[in-house]
Amino acid sequence: MGFENKRVVIVGGGLGGMAFLNAALYAGLKNVQLYEQAPQFAEVGAGVNITSNANRVLDAFGLQESMTRKSSQRVPQSSLNLGKHLASIDRNTSEGSAPYTLHFEDGTTAEADIVIGCDGIKSNVRRDMGLGDSPNYSGQVVYRGFVDYKDLPEETAQLLRKTVNFRGPKRHVLILPIGNQETKTDRAAIIGFMSESLDSWDSESWMSRSDIDSLQEHVRDWCPQVQDIIAGLRKSSPDQKMLKQALYVRDPIDKWYEMKEGQKDAGIILLGDSAHSTLPHQGQGTCMAIESGIALATVLRHWKNDDLQGAFQFYQDLRKPRTDRVTQTSYEAGKLGSSESPDEMNDKFNPTALGERMKWIMEYNVLEDLKIKGAELLDFHDSRL
Ligand SMILES: Cc1cc2nc3c(=O)[nH]c(=O)nc-3n(C[C@H](O)[C@H](O)[C@H](O)COP(=O)(O)OP(=O)(O)OC[C@H]3O[C@@H](n4cnc5c(N)ncnc54)[C@H](O)[C@@H]3O)c2cc1C
Repeated sequence: MGFENKRVVIVGGGLGGMAFLNAALYAGLKNVQLYEQAPQFAEVGAGVNITSNANRVLDAFGLQESMTRKSSQRVPQSSLNLGKHLASIDRNTSEGSAPYTLHFEDGTTAEADIVIGCDGIKSNVRRDMGLGDSPNYSGQVVYRGFVDYKDLPEETAQLLRKTVNFRGPKRHVLILPIGNQETKTDRAAIIGFMSESLDSWDSESWMSRSDIDSLQEHVRDWCPQVQDIIAGLRKSSPDQKMLKQALYVRDPIDKWYEMKEGQKDAGIILLGDSAHSTLPHQGQGTCMAIESGIALATVLRHWKNDDLQGAFQFYQDLRKPRTDRVTQTSYEAGKLGSSESPDEMNDKFNPTALGERMKWIMEYNVLEDLKIKGAELLDFHDSRL
């Protein structure tokens, strides 16, 4: 049974939307279309870390290698609709019409039985569902950029071939090696977490381009390797600018979905940052979206009957305790990370303490959990999982 022939529309082609789309195609949902406002997929100047709990999911549907090699060319072009900014959603009432009509800013529309809102923390889908809450500013901004290894002194380049965290009072600079040498895309992603009052924020958007000078101001008296990074950033960034982003998070909500009135097999549901945003201090936002993506796609494909509300509620019950806990513990990790005393951070952020604190996140297997908790509700007889 399940909902394999329903018209499923995904709004948003970030990592959450793409994770759901991949999982949906793999699981066998037949009629899935993704609508993304950006005119093309491109790097935005940021890197994310995908940890073992999410890599386990990518492995399960054979994506690990292609993701590493090809990044966003993963799915057939026929499922992707770019340059489509969702403006509103009509809940149709007339006989014979689709349950939902999505209106895009360019005047085009799409029809859907099931809408998956993957449009990030500022989600229009979430707003359209009547959830009028506002995101909260965390007190921190992040500066994000890339350094080519060739733009660093050899010794510093070697040091930054693994993850390194430089810490100071109320701020830290995290370095992640990204890309790979085989495709000549290897370089270091720089993520500087700095405590700043929102009063000093000079952009209406949460994301802006900032002079590298602003980051340098925060770390002027730090160690020589950090000065190498600043100099490297200048060499690797032709416009002398980097991304600056204010960190916001929403409080968890009680319900992630709505059902179409009078219809038991049509509804709207949220996934990724639109449902369960989290501060980045445990590197889990994308990982949670990947876990949620495979969980929702599998539930929709293998649900035993046509009760969509039951399927949505099962998915939410499976995911929400975990994502709420990630949101809470990421907030706590952020508090530790912006401590006045870097020594205190040494106690809490050494590899052993971190490993212990993150164990419940890393060792989790969403597919196992799904199979156990869904044993009576899901029919896996033709599953590829
Ligand atoms: C500094 C920082 C570091 C991070 N590091 C990590 C990390 O190491 N590991 C990790 O797992 N996570 C990390 N994260 C979190 C991660 O970036 C997010 O959780 C993740 O990107 C959320 O994915 P998403 O698809 O839900 O939302 P988004 O990535 O925000 O994607 C939403 C998509 O929807 C599109 N969209 C928005 N509105 C509309 C509309 N109206 N119509 C059509 N399309 C629309 C947008 O263009 C976008 O493509 C980090 C976050 C930050 C800020």
